[in-house]
Parts: sequence; structure tokens; C-alpha cells
Amino acid sequence: MADYLETLYPDYGQRFTIDKELYEAQTDLQRLVIFHNNRMGTVMALDGVIQTTEADEFIYHEMMAHLPIIAHGNVKNVLIIGGGDGGMLREVCRHSSIKKITMVEIDAGVIELSKKYLPNHSQGCFNDPRLELVIADGMEFVSRTNQQYEVIISDSTDPIGPAEVLFTENFYQACHRCLTENGVLVTQNGTPFMQLDELKNTASKLQNLFIDWHFYQAAIPTYIGGAMTFAWGSKNETLRQLPLATLQARIKQAALKTRYYNAAIHQAAFALPQYVLTAIGKEQN
Ligand code: SAM
Repeated sequence: MADYLETLYPDYGQRFTIDKELYEAQTDLQRLVIFHNNRMGTVMALDGVIQTTEADEFIYHEMMAHLPIIAHGNVKNVLIIGGGDGGMLREVCRHSSIKKITMVEIDAGVIELSKKYLPNHSQGCFNDPRLELVIADGMEFVSRTNQQYEVIISDSTDPIGPAEVLFTENFYQACHRCLTENGVLVTQNGTPFMQLDELKNTASKLQNLFIDWHFYQAAIPTYIGGAMTFAWGSKNETLRQLPLATLQARIKQAALKTRYYNAAIHQAAFALPQYVLTAIGKEQN
């Protein structure tokens, strides 16, 4: 039985047994591998980096979709950048109050193969009538669109290869322009214990643009090295300070059925360890 060794870090990593090979090929842009692992279910990797597994994807997708949507409280238009596996789309689609979802994925191959091999990620949501699917570079899209969104979710690969542009000041600036008055941008921002520079880099850019910016975290076994962070940039500073009762009421109103996310997790996720606060220049005593 072969093993899959993740190559994200040169000196530390994780190993999956390939209990069944499902697919391996070069898409137009990336090397894509899909296999079954007895513990984690179907696993997808792009360019040597694990992207998603059936077993723990719910943590990542629920935390990136519901936090900004519930915090905003009146979301009609959502933009997802990346997210080719369809898991983010599934979680956004759970909100029946949302009228339109635009998803901009650079690699059509990821979508097609995910529909085939990871159908539980999208659960048919690529057929949701509210979806407008655009195959394009997310950077190009946000720099040209005239649309405005209450929530933008950047569900990208790490900042190497095609996703590098999604971690630049130009990208955050363009997202800021496309957000409505009370809008929120969230982006996947790696695991700070392993990728502290990524966090510092994002912090240095968000602080020049957003009236309120911070990070929140969740531990997702697949993204090794401890909790991972998500960046939060908002045009309304009250959205990050909502009382528990408000969050509970909104979650109830949305009739959300979740496996990880709840109101207490929502609030607690913004509490960051001291070394992370130091790295982003927000030390506390
Ligand atoms: N959950 C994953 C993680 O954190 O490792 C990310 C999953 S998702 C599969 C990432 C998607 O971002 C991929 O499908 C990739 O093709 C897409 N992507 C990368 N660069 C992009 C860009 N510039 N514009 C739009 N999509 C991009």
C-alpha cells in the first residue's frame, strides 16, 4: 500500500495511507490527487498540499461560512473565491435568506473532479439557482466587478502558485471596494504555529484598509501544526462584538444544523494566543 506524504513543509509533515487510489492528474493549473484513506475518507491534494478530507471538512467550511454570515445578520449577496470542492458553497447555501451566491474558481478541473469524487462536499449545491459560477482568477474578478457583497469568503489554496495573488494588498483592497457598508471579508490564513509570516503579512495589509480587522481560529486536524487562523476584515466594528444571545437568536432564526459551529464557538474563536497577538501587534495582558 502506498503512502501520500504532504510536502507543505520541508522538515515536518503528515502521512496518509492511500487505501484506494481514485484519481491523479495534472489539471490546467495544478497537480491534483484524490484517494481514499480509511480514517479520513476521500482526500484531495493539490500540488503536494492536502486541501480537504471528508472526515474533517465540516469544521473548516462551517467556520468560514457561518461566522461572517451570522455576524452580519442580513446577508443577501455572497462572493466565494476559490472553494472548488464545493464545501463552502454547501454551507453558504444553508442560509435560505441569501439571494445570490457568486463563486469564482480559477480551475474548472477541481470542480468537476470534486463533483465526481467528493459529492458530499457540494451535496448538489452546484445546481442551486442562486449560484453564479465564474471560472476565472479571483483577483481579476474582484478588481473588475461592479457587484457589492455583504460577505466575501476567500477559500483559497496556500499563497504559492495561483493563490499567491489572493494574499496581496491589491486583493484585499479590491475586496474592500466590493463590500457593502457593513461588509465582512474572511480568508483562510494558514496555521500560525507553522506559518506565522503568512499571518503577519495579512495583518500588515488589513490594518491599513479595514476599520475592524482581526483573526479567528479553529483546529482542523488536516491542516497540521495546531489551530488554523482565518482573517477577518470588516467595515463595521460592532459585528465582532455581538452578545451570545444575539448569535443564538440568529442561528435559531436561520435554522442552522451544524456539527461544529455554535454561538459559544463563534465568540470564543476570536480569542487568540499571546504569540499570535504579538505577531499581529495586538498584545494583551
Ligand atoms: N480548504 C482548502 C485549504 O485551505 O487548503 C482550500 C480548498 S479549495 C480546493 C482551494 C481552491 O482555490 C482550489 O480549488 C484552487 O483552484 C482555488 N484557487 C487558487 N488560486 C485561485 C485564484 N487566484 N482565483 C480563484 N481560485 C483560486
